[in-house]
Amino acid sequence: MRILVTGAAGFLGSHLSDRLLAEGHSVVGMDNFLTGHPDNIAHLMGNQRFHFIQHDVTNFVYVEGPLDGVFHFASPASPIDYLEKPIQTLKVGSLGTHKTLGLAKAKGARLLLASTSEVYGDPQVHPQPESYWGHVNPIGPRGVYDEAKRFAEAMTMAYHRYHGVETRIVRIFNTYGPRMRPNDGRVVSNFIVQALRGHPLTIYGDGSQTRSFCYVSDLIDGIYRLFQSDRSDPVNIGNPGEFTVRQLAERVIELTGSTSKIVTRPLPEDDPKVRQPDITRARERLGWEPRVQLDAGLRSTIDFFRAHPAT
Ligand code: NAD
Ligand code: UDP
Repeated sequence: MRILVTGAAGFLGSHLSDRLLAEGHSVVGMDNFLTGHPDNIAHLMGNQRFHFIQHDVTNFVYVEGPLDGVFHFASPASPIDYLEKPIQTLKVGSLGTHKTLGLAKAKGARLLLASTSEVYGDPQVHPQPESYWGHVNPIGPRGVYDEAKRFAEAMTMAYHRYHGVETRIVRIFNTYGPRMRPNDGRVVSNFIVQALRGHPLTIYGDGSQTRSFCYVSDLIDGIYRLFQSDRSDPVNIGNPGEFTVRQLAERVIELTGSTSKIVTRPLPEDDPKVRQPDITRARERLGWEPRVQLDAGLRSTIDFFRAHPAT
C-alpha cells in the first residue's frame, strides 16, 4: 500500500512510519515541524519507499499519485505545546482533519484519525469505555485540544456516513518511549530528563492523579491492527496499568539510580484526576493486548535519553 502519514516527524508519526515501512508499504510523510523534528525521520531519508513533504496540513493537501491509506497524526500533543499553540492546535484538529478527509475521499483511501483519551476530559466514569461521552470544559485551557479532537471525530464520522469514506478512530492514552523531546513537557520525559540531570522531579499537585502509560511499540501495534480492521467506531488503545504520578516519579528515580528529590508544583487547570482505558473493544476486535510493562518501557526510554542527552 501507499500511505500518507501526517505528523510523520513527530514522536508517534515517526514510529508509525517505521512500522509501515517494515510491513513493506510505501510511506509519504508530511509535517511542518511545528512540534516535530527532522531528526526523527533522518534514518528514513535514504529509503526508496519513504518520501517526505514539508507542508502544513491546515492548508489544501496535495499528494501526487495513488494513496491507499491516510494516518492523520499531525497535532501538538503535549499540554505545554497546545497551551503555547492554541490556534494551531484548533486548526490542525479541525481544518487539518477536513483537508486530510477530503484527500482520502478523492483518493479512495482509508483514513485513520489519531484521537485521544482527552475526549473524555476529566472523566466521571472510570475506567473509560468508548461509550462514555466525556466531561470536557470547552472554554478551559485544555479545551483547544480536547474540542479540536472531538470535532475531528465528528468530522471523521460525517465523512464516513455522508461520503462513505472508510475511516478508523483510535483514542490514544498516554504513550511514551524513545523520540519524545526532552523538553516536550509530558510527565515521562520530564521525570526521566530531570532524574538523569540530577534535578528535582516536578510533581504537579500532590501527585495522587493517575495515568495509564502505554509503551510506544504496543500502541503502534494496536493502531496497525485497527487500520486493518473493519469497523469505523472509536477504539481505545492504551495500557490499563494505572499509576499515580507520584508512583511514576518514584519508579523513575529507582530505575535511573538518581539522587534527585521530588518537589511539588501547582496543578494545571482542568488536569484530569484519573485516567485508565477500558480496552475490552481492542481485545475483542483486534486481539490486541499491551505487552510491555512500565519498568521495561521506562528502561528503554531511559536508555534513549542517556544516549541522546542534547536532543
Ligand atoms: P508530536 O508533537 O511529537 O507529533 C505531532 C507532529 O505533528 C509533529 O511532528 C508536528 O510538527 C506535526 N504537526 C503539527 N501541526 C501540523 C500541521 N498543521 N501540519 C503538519 N504537521 C503538523 O506528538 P505525538 O505524541 O507524536 O502525537 C501524535 C498524534 O497522536 C497527535 O495527533 C496526538 O494528538 C495524538 N495523541 C498522542 C498521545 C501520546 O501520548 N503521545 C496521546 C493521545 C493522542
Ligand atoms: N505532570 C507532573 N509533572 C510534570 C509533568 C506532568 O506531575 O513535570 C503531571 C500532569 O499534571 C498530569 C500527568 O503528570 O497530571 C500527566 O501529564 P502529561 O503532560 O504527561 O499528560 P496528560 O495526561 O496530562 O495529557
